[in-house]
Amino acid sequence: MLILRGSRERSDTIPRLTCWKASTEWPRFTGALGATLVATAFAFTVPLIVQVVLDSALLGEPLPPIRIVQRSISALGGITVLRNNLWIAAVLITVLTACNGLFSYLAGRWSAVAAERNARSVRDSLYGHLQNVSMAYHGSASTGDLMQRCTSDVDTVRKFYSIQLREIARAIAMVMLAIPLMIGLHPGLTVVAVLCYPAAILYTWRFFLKVQVTFKASDEAEGELSAVLQEHLNGVRVIRSLAREPREVRRFSQVNDNYRDVTMHLLRELARYWGISTVIVTVQTGLVLVAGIIPDLFAVRVTVGTLVAFLMLEQMLLWPIRQMGMVLADLGKARVAARRIEEVLRVPTEDEDPVLAGPGLSRPEIRGHLEFRHVSFAYEDTPVLRDMSFSVPPGSTVGILGATGSGKTTIMMMLARLFDPQEGTILVDGVDITTIDRRWMRRHLGYVLQEPFLFARTIRENISLARSSAEEAEIIAAARAAAVHDVISEFSGGYDTAVGERGVTLSGGQKQRVAIARALLMDSPVLLFDDSLSAVDNRTDARIREALLSRDATTLLISHRTTSLIRTDLVLVVKDGSIVETGSPRELLQRGGEFARTWELQQGDYHADNGYTNDDYRHNAYAANQR
Ligand code: ADP
Repeated sequence: MLILRGSRERSDTIPRLTCWKASTEWPRFTGALGATLVATAFAFTVPLIVQVVLDSALLGEPLPPIRIVQRSISALGGITVLRNNLWIAAVLITVLTACNGLFSYLAGRWSAVAAERNARSVRDSLYGHLQNVSMAYHGSASTGDLMQRCTSDVDTVRKFYSIQLREIARAIAMVMLAIPLMIGLHPGLTVVAVLCYPAAILYTWRFFLKVQVTFKASDEAEGELSAVLQEHLNGVRVIRSLAREPREVRRFSQVNDNYRDVTMHLLRELARYWGISTVIVTVQTGLVLVAGIIPDLFAVRVTVGTLVAFLMLEQMLLWPIRQMGMVLADLGKARVAARRIEEVLRVPTEDEDPVLAGPGLSRPEIRGHLEFRHVSFAYEDTPVLRDMSFSVPPGSTVGILGATGSGKTTIMMMLARLFDPQEGTILVDGVDITTIDRRWMRRHLGYVLQEPFLFARTIRENISLARSSAEEAEIIAAARAAAVHDVISEFSGGYDTAVGERGVTLSGGQKQRVAIARALLMDSPVLLFDDSLSAVDNRTDARIREALLSRDATTLLISHRTTSLIRTDLVLVVKDGSIVETGSPRELLQRGGEFARTWELQQGDYHADNGYTNDDYRHNAYAANQR
């Protein structure tokens, strides 16, 4: 039996989910199962009372050879007392049914609470784990699929523990209590009462095998529907701008139709199952009734009380057998869902990854001396950096120029320890980066991505994400340095203006500048700008660079705009993962190589129009340079 458990082994390590035979909620689950057994036992007392009242109290038949019945009647003072006070039976039936209800309620409540807590803990574990797995995993995994694992898969397991586990306990208790009881009441009629059971069990099993396949198809169709929906919503602008709405609507229609067909098929299967199993139940009940009415047919003589008790027991017994088809199908679904959850949790975290994990513990003072020594790196089979060596003195500003795909971003990601070199060494102030605590290293980097992500929160929250304790003045200073303070001040809500879905829509350049302010707020000794000024016009770009120069952080600046790099201390020109030119901008211009050619090409644009953004340059300068 699988029980999902979320646990945190050490507060600073990765939360784990374990398939374990017990969870922290085990006492509650046990209580729920115990309450189910007790409720079932109470349910069985009612047919027994009816049998005793009809047969022994009213018709004068001997008491059934069931010890608990005989003891209860003698405790009452004999069958005559019951015969003269039939109200006792009515009160007993009412009280025992109320007890059945009470224990059923407790069982339902405890199992629901335990399953819900378990699910919450599993969701926490999954979320915590996903925060710590490598970027390579995030790059390859589908977001939609991960979301499904964190939500509906967890819910499938939750439902199983909340509902079906109790059904299993109830079915076991029913069979264990009902069969001896029936044999005690009338062995001959018991044989008649179970005649249809093999057919019912076989049919249930067949349904289980069939419905599993349909459930899987239904899940897949639903997954496809969500994937298409997610993709369309993400790409809505592209679809609109290309006027592709009708085509995309048709595509959505197809997957929607497929989902409907699969669901209809599932519903038909369920309807057929309930229909046929109802026939089996009715036939079985009919057989008991006929056996009671026509004694010669099955050679059994039955009293009225026993017949009524058998009919009641039959109804109670056949229900869980019918339900077992659904229980087994849900068990199959829950096992698949649990496996999918475990797959995510088994993905090694950055600290456990055999490729990424090093000693990774030291926390040296970081001043910003960066050095690549013969570093090579490949994403799976794609070599990206080849024997790359360079050194950046602390406090200097280094520009990186190169065509798209030449490996510039990879250099930055390696400094953030999102990937580690496969060959060679990266040194930070003389210390091998793989021996530095990953989070420590990242805390000392202000890393701005080319396409920065802003959360749907206020601008203030987005900036102070880097340092939640930052004072108002510090946030404003960072925004000023990123040349975005004036823009923010123009919004009626100022820094409290929400961005994103329920707030203002910022332009690409404004988003980049907010992200730069966020990085500057960290006041870190190393700043990494991955083409982060690409959507900013020349004048603003110059203002930001001016502000950067006044800081003494080591700054790595990827840019396609040579004017952005002209005031750096050193420029690295990267081509196909190797450095093909290196030197100060002045030296490179004199050398007349790639940097100088790009500079000349862009000069015309620069003088003609200062409103150009870096993205504009990329389209024309590199295209020209590559020819
Ligand atoms: P640049 O920043 O110069 O455009 P990148 O460092 O982003 O270059 O990418 C270098 C090469 O590595 C490209 O060919 C790109 O397709 C590939 N690449 C980048 N990230 C990944 C990844 N996560 N998995 C596989 N290949 C990647």
